[in-house]
Amino acid sequence: MRLASLTPSILRYPDANDFGRERMTVLLRAETVDGVVGWGEGIAMWPEACKATATIVSEGFAPLLLGRELSVAEAWATMKAQAWWYGEGGIAGFALSAIDMALWDIAGKIAGKPLVELLGGPRHASLKAIASCHVNKATLEACVAEVEGYFADGFRGVKLGFAKKGLSRVGFDPETDVRFVRMLRAALGADAEILVDAGNGVVWDRDTAISVVRRMAEENIGWIEEPFHPSRFDDHRALKAAVAVPIAAGEREWTLAGYTRMMEAGFVDVLGVDPARVEGVTGFRLVDAEATRRGVGVNAHAWSTAITTAASLHLSLASTQTRVFELKPHPVIVQTELAEAPIRHCDGSVFAPQGAGLGVTVREDVVARLRVGP
Ligand SMILES: [Mg+2]
Repeated sequence: MRLASLTPSILRYPDANDFGRERMTVLLRAETVDGVVGWGEGIAMWPEACKATATIVSEGFAPLLLGRELSVAEAWATMKAQAWWYGEGGIAGFALSAIDMALWDIAGKIAGKPLVELLGGPRHASLKAIASCHVNKATLEACVAEVEGYFADGFRGVKLGFAKKGLSRVGFDPETDVRFVRMLRAALGADAEILVDAGNGVVWDRDTAISVVRRMAEENIGWIEEPFHPSRFDDHRALKAAVAVPIAAGEREWTLAGYTRMMEAGFVDVLGVDPARVEGVTGFRLVDAEATRRGVGVNAHAWSTAITTAASLHLSLASTQTRVFELKPHPVIVQTELAEAPIRHCDGSVFAPQGAGLGVTVREDVVARLRVGP
């Protein structure tokens, strides 16, 4: 393909899934000289990081890519070589992710095939839909009722984000955390998939984590995600040795090298991988291949716009290491309005998007409405 333009857009939008907070991201519109348009995303989140991402796209990568005949792999290698000066992963990885994702979208459109077919075809007919939520209501009863509502809507699993913005004490008090999971199991029944995402707001020391996760194990949780800061390998290993619950981690890694270090440390059962942060579809596939070789699970992080959700779904369906797929349970403009046919679950299952490339028809009027920069 030969690229004519690479146009970043910084978006700002309120998200009911995050207690109404305004979130930000960077979309990337790529167009070839033949007029084929592809979309990508780099989830930079903060205003200054979004600006830096857009700058790296326009002033760093675009001059290297525009007007040349390039494959997706050649474009990725070109950006990766340039990004060496920016450090490993991080903001350069957001910019690289956005462009790479858009180029895979274009490659699919040129081939007339969905992305999953370009990735070797689906390894699953569908994946179990998980409501990926933040626990933020004032009382435990209200938090349980909210999750029961997701199951009434057909979800068969839930991932609980702890210590988030809102009114809840869940994530800030270990006894409350355990009580909440017990109440939820009693309300949802034995078959419900319950995943616990401690994440960056939870601060547990090693003994607290072991105590909490042991008691949550009695409620048969599917995994404990990011129980410690990602750098605390020794604490992860101690928890791994003390509990039978699978450990998920990796959301704050950016590169194959980072993920490989984590896998070599021997504690991780499920890698969280985001194609809008991990150097794109190409970067995700590199991590997925290494995880496959080592028998480690993979879970796509897809907590932003419909563009990343589509990329994550194609990648998840093409991986032997995936088991579930996360969706935001509450309507949000970057999912429901940004795409003409947003991805939804059907009776608790998610299927491959139809259409070539990512299979997303982006409404450019909605992009323009949410656009706050560069
Ligand atoms: Mg997480």
